[in-house]
Amino acid sequence: MDASTLLAVFVSGTIIGSFLNVCIVRLPAGLSIVHPPSHCPGCERPISWYDNVPILSYVALGGRCRRCRMRISPLYPTVEVLTGALAVALWLRLGPGLAFAGYLAFAAALVTITFIDLDHQIIPDVISLPGIAVGLAVSFVSPLVRPLDAILGVLAGGGFLLLVAWAYQAIRGQEGMGGGDVKLLAMIGAFLGWQSLFVTIMVASIVGSVIGIALMLYQRADTRLAIPFGPFLAGGALVHLFFGDRILALYFGF
Ligand SMILES: [Zn+2]
Repeated sequence: MDASTLLAVFVSGTIIGSFLNVCIVRLPAGLSIVHPPSHCPGCERPISWYDNVPILSYVALGGRCRRCRMRISPLYPTVEVLTGALAVALWLRLGPGLAFAGYLAFAAALVTITFIDLDHQIIPDVISLPGIAVGLAVSFVSPLVRPLDAILGVLAGGGFLLLVAWAYQAIRGQEGMGGGDVKLLAMIGAFLGWQSLFVTIMVASIVGSVIGIALMLYQRADTRLAIPFGPFLAGGALVHLFFGDRILALYFGF
């Protein structure tokens, strides 16, 4: 595994990340992700290609628009670095091939969902529902999951948890886990199989609780702060993807 290959994979990942930034901004607003070309929200001027190079342009411009000097969100280069790093991690995990491409699409969907959910507390169906279909297709070329486990993953992630959410709502009279979270779990089940839901939900619940409690203490009020659960589920799914074998082995002594 030579360094130039990994660099090429990283750069490709950052270019995908650059496209994900467009999706993160435009999908919740109901705008087209292909038209018009990127423009500065401050001065409305189109962004030149040389000011749109992942990571490097942000650094070269000092995080500001070349013309109007409006601050560019540090989330843009963050998404680019994150997607590049995930591409490298998947390459090391899976090697070149269809499975790599499939799980790169999965990681891209998780990154997009995470940043949209953090900002808007929604998980767009236009990502999670096609994601379920893509995940089922990927299971046929995946070394990580068998097609039957993927189908059971969709049923377990979607059906069972929909039941839990419905019961919670019926008993408590409020929505515990959103419908978007349920569809996200079905997508995770499609890409990683029903077995993955254990680690995904465990990691998401533990990390989500710790951060939720920390935020409550920090705010010194019992205000029911709406913390989206999607980013934790996405993180839990990635933990399973890269470390699930080892975690399950530790837990059940396989
Ligand atoms: Zn500008």
